[in-house]
Amino acid sequence: MKKSFIVIVIGLGRFGTSITQTLMKLGHEVMVIDCEEEKVNRASGMATQAIQLDSTDENALREVGVSNFDEAIVAIGSDILASILTTLLLKGLGVAKITAKANNDYHSKVLEKIGADRIVHPERDMGIRVAHHIVSSNVIDFIELSSEYSLVEISTSAKMIGKSLEELEIRAKYGCTVIAIKKNGVRAINISPQGRDIIQEGDLLVVIGTYKAISLLEDDLCS
Ligand code: ATP
Repeated sequence: MKKSFIVIVIGLGRFGTSITQTLMKLGHEVMVIDCEEEKVNRASGMATQAIQLDSTDENALREVGVSNFDEAIVAIGSDILASILTTLLLKGLGVAKITAKANNDYHSKVLEKIGADRIVHPERDMGIRVAHHIVSSNVIDFIELSSEYSLVEISTSAKMIGKSLEELEIRAKYGCTVIAIKKNGVRAINISPQGRDIIQEGDLLVVIGTYKAISLLEDDLCS
């Protein structure tokens, strides 16, 4: 049976609201917290439980039993101090896993130091994705794996169709690796394709490589 998560989302801005709605749609339980009454009232029909409290108040967090949750998401962005203090308190209260939203690199570094398990940068990541979509209409999705490596999903261009991965020299020339080819509108997937595998119309390539290498490949093969 699929595991059902019990998650606490702190901060009902656009990011926190979107996470809550998605988790609820996926069948998980979500308790939402915000210090503003109006936001809590608005969210009461959307989440399993909606509570108004200041997440920088340790006793208030303890009273709602935060340590019983599988994961906490700190979705406070603009008030960096509140985000850091909340993360610190959740950590101290023994929350198993904490995901925190960072507004900038300094914020991210502090969150890392105080023990956030996962740090997300939604605005920055979306900016990167949109920029890649603008530069190349073949880029379907773009995920940053590290400061050096990324993963892209690209649709095939006329230059690729009917050619093998070897012929396109994706590894030899660009230093990128195709880790999967999604076939026929994603109904079938070829994991770890061979160099001799031929690209067909409608295929989607999932490619991993450095930013520089992927950008070179996009320039050459996707234009
Ligand atoms: P968005 O996700 O919309 O980009 P944002 O990054 O601008 O949001 P904020 O508006 O700073 O984030 O905060 C998101 C939510 O967190 C707001 O609804 C705010 O009321 C709530 N919030 C801020 N500080 C606290 C706190 N100490 N305790 C509880 N909720 C808080």
